[in-house]
Amino acid sequence: MSAPRVRFAPSPTGLFHVGSARSALFNWFIARQHDDGVFILRIEDTDESRNRQEWEDVIIASMAWLGLNVDVGPYRQSDRRLAHEAARDALLASGDLYYCDCTPEALAARKGENKTPGYDGFCRDRGLGPGERRALRFKRPLEGSLVVRDEVRGEVTFETRALEDFVVARANGDVLYALANVVDDRDDRVTHVIRGEEHLANAPKQMLLWEALNAATGEVVALPRYAHLPLLVNEQRKKLSKRKDPVATERYRDEGYLASAFVNYLALLGWSPRGDEEIVPLADLVAQFRLRDVVPSPAFFDVKKLRAMNGAYLRALSPAAFVEAARPWVAPWSSAWTPSTTPPWREGDFDEALFARVAPLVHERVNVLGEVPAMVGFFFVTPTLDEDAAAKVYRDDPAGLAILRALEAEFATSPWTSAALHELTLRVGEAQGLNLRKAQAPLRLAVTGSLVGPPLFESLEVLGRDEVLTRVRAVLAAYA
Ligand code: GLU
Repeated sequence: MSAPRVRFAPSPTGLFHVGSARSALFNWFIARQHDDGVFILRIEDTDESRNRQEWEDVIIASMAWLGLNVDVGPYRQSDRRLAHEAARDALLASGDLYYCDCTPEALAARKGENKTPGYDGFCRDRGLGPGERRALRFKRPLEGSLVVRDEVRGEVTFETRALEDFVVARANGDVLYALANVVDDRDDRVTHVIRGEEHLANAPKQMLLWEALNAATGEVVALPRYAHLPLLVNEQRKKLSKRKDPVATERYRDEGYLASAFVNYLALLGWSPRGDEEIVPLADLVAQFRLRDVVPSPAFFDVKKLRAMNGAYLRALSPAAFVEAARPWVAPWSSAWTPSTTPPWREGDFDEALFARVAPLVHERVNVLGEVPAMVGFFFVTPTLDEDAAAKVYRDDPAGLAILRALEAEFATSPWTSAALHELTLRVGEAQGLNLRKAQAPLRLAVTGSLVGPPLFESLEVLGRDEVLTRVRAVLAAYA
């Protein structure tokens, strides 16, 4: 087979949906399986009322984040206006299009109670010429059927009669998406059209246009192969909702998912690698991916599973790589984009070397990098105590302040290693009839501001005797 030429053709009309990211990835897989495979990025900006530059920027930035490098583009569909118009004119000359002046009101009036969707063909044989408010429609064959040979779904048959005579150009001459998309795919010599299931119904129309252009222009281009990828659904097995479900790809970057983990997870949406292991290196995903192994049934976009997978990818990083990966969250002022959480410290309070020392204490405990700053905040700034916890530990329970007092006395002279501090807290707790968990809670709260966090004694060692004593004494003064 000659090298595949695939394209990803998003419309910049909203956030970069995870389903679009999956389409981009599957196209990219196909291109990267061949040394000279070509991956094209075409921004389909023909709907001027809905396009926004910022959405285009998000698509390009997200693709870069995911590592989906392109060989051609990004180019804008609107750059090819002349080619679209030439195709429109060729189809008009060959008799494949006709003018139509039906208003939506006239159409509705003719339909009456008949709810059959689509155009009724009123102008098909009226022989109208160009004129104001006259759109161009495609004259579909009324007889016969068309088979879309879909790599995922097998053969899907459409009766051409059931397709309407759809509009390909507005009255002002603007060529619409339906035709522009086909013209661009032909000009780009696209070999595979891989996209979401919602476009399956467009395939027969696009095949008709493609063949009509072959005949009208004399430039015969082979039809592409089609693959319509399964719908993504949420936990309720409903189509992911832009409003209710977390569907924005860029949000996953901002929250601290690794691109490698996110790509691995996307690959599992409708497809699975060989064997039982779902965590698979990228090169193996590329090598193993086959369109024919994609299943047509809806795929559950499971954020919990994605989180767990991200945790596994994070834990597999070396300590230095983890520090590097966490940088946008711990030092957001150095990041080109805005992470989802802001650290509880200011730039001046942050200390790179200190972060490198404490990062191993949280490395095993986070599933997304956005959780890092809150966990290590107390190393950089004096924490504010969680009020509910403080009331419970220091006010409601007399043992809380008692143990803190005893520890303060010992800390002044104790050796300052995590092992010694651990030992000491255990002993002081036992003397007061408390197990280690009970004994360390008042200490943890005083020093870190919270009852949960990184390993306590290692943290105390890093913070140092003076700082720990200062924090313990502040609590004793405030609550005693
Ligand atoms: N622009 C279309 C979309 O964003 C994609 C069309 C296609 O892939 O053919 O849904």
